[in-house]
Amino acid sequence: MRAIRAARLFDGVTTTDNPIVYVEGGTVVSVAHGGPAPADALDLGAVTLLPGLVDAHTHLVFDAGADPVARLHAVDDDELLRGAKVAATRALHAGITTVRDLGDRGYVALRLRAQFAAAPHTGPHVLAAGPPLTSPRGHCWWLGGEVSGVAGIRAAVAEHAARGVDVIKVLATGGEITPGTKPYLLQFSPEELAAAADEAHRHGLPAAAHAHSAPAIAAAVDAGFDTVEHGSFLTADGAAADPAVIGKLAASDTVVSATLGYLPGQPVNPRTAALSATLTAIFQQQRRAGVRMIVTSDAGIDASKPHDVLAYAAEMFLLFGDGPEAALRAVTADAAAACGVGATKGRVAAGYDADLLAVAGDPTTDIAALRDVRAVFRAGVRVR
Ligand SMILES: [Zn+2]
Repeated sequence: MRAIRAARLFDGVTTTDNPIVYVEGGTVVSVAHGGPAPADALDLGAVTLLPGLVDAHTHLVFDAGADPVARLHAVDDDELLRGAKVAATRALHAGITTVRDLGDRGYVALRLRAQFAAAPHTGPHVLAAGPPLTSPRGHCWWLGGEVSGVAGIRAAVAEHAARGVDVIKVLATGGEITPGTKPYLLQFSPEELAAAADEAHRHGLPAAAHAHSAPAIAAAVDAGFDTVEHGSFLTADGAAADPAVIGKLAASDTVVSATLGYLPGQPVNPRTAALSATLTAIFQQQRRAGVRMIVTSDAGIDASKPHDVLAYAAEMFLLFGDGPEAALRAVTADAAAACGVGATKGRVAAGYDADLLAVAGDPTTDIAALRDVRAVFRAGVRVR
């Protein structure tokens, strides 16, 4: 048994002072407050202890370089795996102890998951989707997940489940990085989307829909997807909130995964930059309507999105009208719940995995403190 002392604790839900967290093996066994700490306790000093962060939308096979897609085409799966390990390690050292990989090639993220599972202190807990399901020559088709028709989709989901994936990812619309696809156009019929979500749930897996446009978001909610990725309400010539669809989202159990966060000083996708104020207003409307929302990064897809950018994403969440504690929940307890791992991740409480982050200062009042990392524990082992 090991005791860890800090000045403050955000446990994934609320904030308290003078915690002593007791860890046995890879698990938190209890949390005490204010009493005397054991003589051999590790005193982290004037830090805030938090659950390790959960980035519920990342891409470990994209290298966050100048052209991640070209680089992906240029290397084989073994080289992709080596790069994915570098990316995951970078995330871990920033306190991101759980990453949900929403699209790889060759099930590389599953191979990495196995490596880290054998030695948890070497990397974050990986939740992996494998190659995302897309229409023939649809968004990210070159990752290997092309499929069509209700029967084809059910077979593809079953195959992914048999491989051992943690989540089924469906590209419901096109995307920016695939020429010939459009982010505002649906790639699948409502029947195909419903089959994908239903088959995922039949295998006990959550389903995540990449959906940029109002019709796609509505179809994903109707289909029963657990998360809508992006949720940006893009149109042919910009972006525009659809109050009816926002109402549908708010009335559903579907969680919007807002992919945010940009490393300062790096070039940002010009379309995203031009739409920045509009997208902020759209997310504000969603929050005001009561849409459940988490904050994720889409790390890897360009140079502004290294695999440790999540702290900047949490900071952007404040633009939508919530305070720092809500932003912290959106990258800890709420994110874990949206990924289906809310019973083991995203909280500092008895029975939870001892994945911990310590930062200087108090991120519950100044979210920027998330970037001042002082210690990271993965499965009870200090890795930074
Ligand atoms: Zn993505």
